[in-house]
Amino acid sequence: MILSLFLLSMCVSTAAASPHRIHSVSDISQEFTFYMDGRFARQYLRQSDRDVRNWGSLGNLDLSNANLLILTGGNPRVPYTKAAGERIVNFLNDGGGVLIMADGSDPMPPATSILTNFGATLKTTRASKPLKGLNAIGEHDITYRRGTTLQLSPDWTPLIVDAAAQPVLAQRSVGKGTLLLGSRGLFGQKPDASDPINADWIQPLLNQACAAKTIDPSKPHRRTWAEHAQQSGPLIVEYHDGTQPMAAAIVDVYEDVRPHLREITGVEPAPGMLKRLLVLPTGGGGFSSGARIAIGAWWGGFPENRYPMVELIAHEATHSWVLPHPEPVWNEPIATYLGMLTGRRMQMPEASQRMQAQIDKARALDPDLTAIDPMAADAPRHLIWGKTYFIFEQLEAKHGPGVMAKYFQTKRAHVPAARPNYTMHDCVAIWSRATGEDLFPWFQSYGFAVDAEQTDLYPTSTAGNTNK
Ligand SMILES: [Zn+2]
Repeated sequence: MILSLFLLSMCVSTAAASPHRIHSVSDISQEFTFYMDGRFARQYLRQSDRDVRNWGSLGNLDLSNANLLILTGGNPRVPYTKAAGERIVNFLNDGGGVLIMADGSDPMPPATSILTNFGATLKTTRASKPLKGLNAIGEHDITYRRGTTLQLSPDWTPLIVDAAAQPVLAQRSVGKGTLLLGSRGLFGQKPDASDPINADWIQPLLNQACAAKTIDPSKPHRRTWAEHAQQSGPLIVEYHDGTQPMAAAIVDVYEDVRPHLREITGVEPAPGMLKRLLVLPTGGGGFSSGARIAIGAWWGGFPENRYPMVELIAHEATHSWVLPHPEPVWNEPIATYLGMLTGRRMQMPEASQRMQAQIDKARALDPDLTAIDPMAADAPRHLIWGKTYFIFEQLEAKHGPGVMAKYFQTKRAHVPAARPNYTMHDCVAIWSRATGEDLFPWFQSYGFAVDAEQTDLYPTSTAGNTNK
């Protein structure tokens, strides 16, 4: 009893002595990635710290109650502005810590323009393994994927060097603050945050880098959103200065795509959904959160290539259209399928080519498309995608035209929003109602383990046993 009280008091005093709270900002305005949208913070900050994301122009960012700023090399199409450079210098002078994770490349990433002011250059020379930590990092093993070395003025202190003694991570003082610069490959990258490499030394390093600036944890530390919002018909389009040049072209594509999706599905987007379109500073895809879809500004080589953008916008919009119940098994493939149907209606030959290529990949795994159950936990991804397209094409051929619209209308009419789930059995029940035919045996013939007994959405009187 005495012992446990003693331990308790130890814990309390340790917690009270715990120094320094971090308020960090992970920047996704220079380049959006899912990793920088919260995963870096999960991997390298403590639970007591607080990270927010900057989605707006970096040059406008309010850093008054932040002490750590996390930056990447940035998207080549979004230069670091003069105002952004000044923000960073002022923040450092005030005692803030800045981490820049970047590698040299041809052409160089935009962060180069910031680094020049601090006497650092990203080289294109590959860092050679093994890496070696210096000083405090010397005790730690270093995990490293790959990347390049740094060229540094004497103001810098190398913290990690490669096998040829070239710096890979370094720090320097700027005013009262600390600037850290390191190769991207020293840090995690997975969107599911499952690779917190080097956390044992990165966490204390970040803590020390921002120690000269104290924040007030009782005051708000809020994310900064993209600063421009423009009404375009029923849609609010959101962007910042760096994505502004793309916003109008993306809205043009959206306006072309939307009527096709309306016709393909036979319904409007689910109530309250698809109200906002955010332009993301990336060529790497998009997402949908229901009410908002987010679209990578340079996806698939846009604006030079138009088809990939048609497919992406239709894909993300479809995620909003299928709600309130996401589709089982094929929620991702149906989104791309509707993108392809949209492209086909817009006379874009890439649509049919891409669909056929994916069906061929499924046939390579399951030649008649009858053997592998897409509902199985170990069903290959290519099989699920290709078989989905094949099934929808067959449904259109047998029960069309416009069978997809009948499906969406029937789903809206018979599946209330409050229903707790929507399974593949339910889905085939709705397809059966939509086509007026018991489709359970047909789906079973293509390997789907669906069962009319496991859904209450298909009346048993018409479930294929009316003669019994
Ligand atoms: Zn998706």
